[in-house]
Amino acid sequence: MNLFTLIFAAFLLAMLAWAFYFSKSKKSGLEIPKLFPSNWRSFLENEVQFYSKLPSGEKLRFESDVLEFLKRVKITGVKCEINDEDRLLVASSAVIPIFAFPEWQYNSLCEVLLYPDLFTEKFDFTGDHRYTSGMVGSGGAMNNVVIFSKPALWQGFDNKSDKSNVGIHEFVHLFDKQDGSIDGIPNIIMNHQMVLPWLHMINSTTSEIISGKSDINIYGATNRQEFLAVVSEYFFERPKLLKKKHPELYQILSQVFKTDLASKI
Ligand SMILES: [Zn+2]
Repeated sequence: MNLFTLIFAAFLLAMLAWAFYFSKSKKSGLEIPKLFPSNWRSFLENEVQFYSKLPSGEKLRFESDVLEFLKRVKITGVKCEINDEDRLLVASSAVIPIFAFPEWQYNSLCEVLLYPDLFTEKFDFTGDHRYTSGMVGSGGAMNNVVIFSKPALWQGFDNKSDKSNVGIHEFVHLFDKQDGSIDGIPNIIMNHQMVLPWLHMINSTTSEIISGKSDINIYGATNRQEFLAVVSEYFFERPKLLKKKHPELYQILSQVFKTDLASKI
């Protein structure tokens, strides 16, 4: 082996090591533990009501779904540092709507971006645009991205007595998108007999919201897809209250998400 071959081989090895390191760190941004760490478990117990109310066998399934999500989807802080707790809240938001569908994944999702504050739809912090706390990206490279304001994500889990959770809201849009379109009608779940009563329900409840006679967030009256996302936040955050105040709506949502949550939370 002459000197040139030796240098070339060393160079090749260095390139391979760099490529291996880079692909590994780029994919997830963190090492995924094989066993669910006990401090992660206590964090979920304290912060994620949905998890804390699960029976112990289902908690293990939730944990493995969280690990699987973190392996598949990169979570990146934009102009802010993020830690394991931020990642756990993103993963929990993703797991909750599809928990009753063990075979489901968010196939189109590659990356979740966390911003330090509310952002505009142009992703800057200046100008006169409407500020938002979360959104599903659309168009070109943004098709595979979900964006959250980090404080808004935390607020969704902090206040357990309100009916909102931006993490769940955005992932319900992706749940809705499993049939190819975000239109407020999850066709994979809803057969023909279910769609018509659902459209009826959307129209009548939207009228109540607009006339100020409903406790449902007015943002749900924007269109069908926002209606589904907003009432789903209510369903996952306050299932008993939803069942009491809107029994028919609760009934449909418990069919959609395949869970009678009011009997658990
Ligand atoms: Zn929305």
